[in-house]
Amino acid sequence: MQVTVLGAGSMGHGIAQVSAMAGHDVILRDIEDEFVENGLEGIRTNLQGGVDRDKLTEAEMTETLARIEGMTDLEAAVADADLVVEAVPEDMDLKKEVFADVEAATSEDTIIASNTSSLSVTEMASALERPERAVGLHFFNPPHIMDLVEIVIAEQTDDRTEAFAIDYVQGIDKEDVVVRDTAGFATSRLGVALGLEAIRMVEQGVASPADIDEGMSVGYGHPMGPLELTDHVGLDVRLHIAEHLREELGERFKPPQSLRRKVRANKLGKKTGEGYYVWENGERVGMSGEWGDDDE
Ligand code: NAD
Repeated sequence: MQVTVLGAGSMGHGIAQVSAMAGHDVILRDIEDEFVENGLEGIRTNLQGGVDRDKLTEAEMTETLARIEGMTDLEAAVADADLVVEAVPEDMDLKKEVFADVEAATSEDTIIASNTSSLSVTEMASALERPERAVGLHFFNPPHIMDLVEIVIAEQTDDRTEAFAIDYVQGIDKEDVVVRDTAGFATSRLGVALGLEAIRMVEQGVASPADIDEGMSVGYGHPMGPLELTDHVGLDVRLHIAEHLREELGERFKPPQSLRRKVRANKLGKKTGEGYYVWENGERVGMSGEWGDDDE
């Protein structure tokens, strides 16, 4: 099968990699040669890491790389694709434009998928003449490590497209969950609900961020507590999603005040050195504000 991935950024290069590792011929397309090259370099680095950790052989790495071609020409990239997965920035107008451009340059049967983490796939599909071939394939970051793909069924998605999506996800050795196209799908909606409640608990002094997180990681077996996860994702990203969910689903997603205050102060989490924790060189070294030392 031929898979074309549009956008060679954080997600796109990983989606290209896992598709090629499963034996598909892959084209990775971005708008500038430099971005394509960065994406290909990211794949080489990931694969080399796998070889170093004995997860794959040198030969498998070489074969995988040989199946991936990078380019900037959209028409050439999608002409023979069975599946196109867009992983361009999270902007509805851009995604609709990309969907329409893909449809104009590809065959009638090509499945057109979006890796959006929050936007309506139904709205994107409305940009197509044949919207029944649209579907969401929500990969998790980084795609070569994370096992889940949320398959998002738009209002227009037909049974053939759904079956195709399930086959593809299972064929690249990922776990699939099938969800209806609703705000936050299944994972973001629940993940954000937990994160917002944890933030409210910190505001109310129920417990320190580290104790709340430990409660969920040790008590519930989550790999990471909701506040540390918020710091990893970025407080600005979480705020943005919460606002979207509030608009779509109601006041229970109202962002807590401390989240807004921290975003205004550029305390965006790990990437700026402080969120609900303090970070130095990518390591958690303490808690933000009056909570002080992190006795993790
Ligand atoms: P990114 O900014 O790292 O990469 C986007 C890439 O798309 C850039 O290289 C950009 O040059 C390219 N691009 C822009 N317009 C294009 C076009 N018309 N055709 C081809 N390429 C184009 O973004 P990302 O983090 O990889 O996110 C991509 C999508 O994946 C978004 O919809 C995002 O919501 C979703 N997503 C992101 C994550 C995450 O953790 N980063 C997780 C799940 C889903």
